Amino acid sequence: MRHVDVAVAGLGLSGAAVAWAATRRGHTVAAFEAYAPGHRRGSSHGHARIYRRAYLDPFYVELTGRAGRLWERLEIEAGERLLDRVGGVDHGPGREPERMAALLREHGVAAELLDPADAAARWPGIRFTGPVVHDPEGGVIDPEATIAAMTRLAATEGAAVAHETPVRDLEPDEDGVRFRAGADTWHARTLVVAAGAWTGPLLGGLVPLPPLTVTQQQVFFFAPREPGPWPTIVHGSSEEALEMYALPEGPWVKLGEHLRGTVTTADTRDFTVDPEARERALAYAREWLPGVDPVPRSETTCLYTWAPGEDFVLDRQGPIVVCSPCSGHGAKFAPLIGELVTDLLEGAPPIDRFALRPPRS
Ligand SMILES: Cc1cc2nc3c(=O)[nH]c(=O)nc-3n(C[C@H](O)[C@H](O)[C@H](O)COP(=O)(O)OP(=O)(O)OC[C@H]3O[C@@H](n4cnc5c(N)ncnc54)[C@H](O)[C@@H]3O)c2cc1C
Repeated sequence: MRHVDVAVAGLGLSGAAVAWAATRRGHTVAAFEAYAPGHRRGSSHGHARIYRRAYLDPFYVELTGRAGRLWERLEIEAGERLLDRVGGVDHGPGREPERMAALLREHGVAAELLDPADAAARWPGIRFTGPVVHDPEGGVIDPEATIAAMTRLAATEGAAVAHETPVRDLEPDEDGVRFRAGADTWHARTLVVAAGAWTGPLLGGLVPLPPLTVTQQQVFFFAPREPGPWPTIVHGSSEEALEMYALPEGPWVKLGEHLRGTVTTADTRDFTVDPEARERALAYAREWLPGVDPVPRSETTCLYTWAPGEDFVLDRQGPIVVCSPCSGHGAKFAPLIGELVTDLLEGAPPIDRFALRPPRS
């Protein structure tokens, strides 16, 4: 049997961040990923996710600030650009631009509140009908490059890293967790389950989880007519359940819906783009993104794992840490997730909102 302080199941953005942080903080770490690097079955594939300070909830504005400082540290240690701060715009009544601008300024962000004509002059590829918040700290993260960088840094510091090696057969005992990975049996003082949409199935009832709902989402790639740089965009329209986001990814503008997806599971999802979602994306691009050719050049699917309140689950029960920071917005926090989970495995209490059983207000 092989022994380690910390084992990590899953090397998406979360598991890679935990492997990096825990190794840097002196723990012996073994990290396992069920599939090959860059696989497209989970939540972290592709080359673009939005980083933004622009939340309407002060709790998350504060966390984005902490995450932003850690992105800078990660870029220095990795020696590469992983977060391209192209700026972000939020508009539409659902984003409450006046309140959001005030909140960001309270948190030290040099946010601007623009009227629609000024915003359209600045970003002619986007149609605006009301006030617009510009978040100059916002930008685009490259998730695959980030996972590779964090995994490489962890391995350089001594972590054992294995791909195509699913963790299975978890058995908590008096001083840790025994499990199988590949041909070996391992024992870890703490096992961090960072398995994205597979979290519930992997735990198999060992830890009582809050309801986690997995949905299949889709994104569409459009060719820009307006030259860049494009900002990231979040648009909360007055129509219920319409929250669209867009961001540059390589030569494309990627467009997706935040709130609508198809409930599924990690192992039964079908990878098929919902034709109604495609129609909605086309209609949206025609109406709101005059700077793109409104015919998608490609499309793909991806999984969200929703936790109650669109929050995350970061907590431990005995020797198992549950690390599920998704709800469709976890990527931007990745390096902070690594720190928060390492705090947990060193004995810190969970953040209330991320606890397995959040206290009721
Ligand atoms: C379409 C889309 C757009 C998004 N846009 C944004 C955005 O703009 N900004 C933002 O902040 N966030 C965004 N997100 C959310 C963000 O991408 C996720 O929060 C993040 O990728 C979650 O990473 P994860 O590591 O928790 O999960 P995953 O990336 O799914 O990683 C879990 C890993 O665990 C592995 N695994 C499963 N079972 C086992 C096992 N038994 N043993 C070993 N390994 C196992 C899986 O193969 C997988 O690689 C978006 C998500 C999607 C789907």
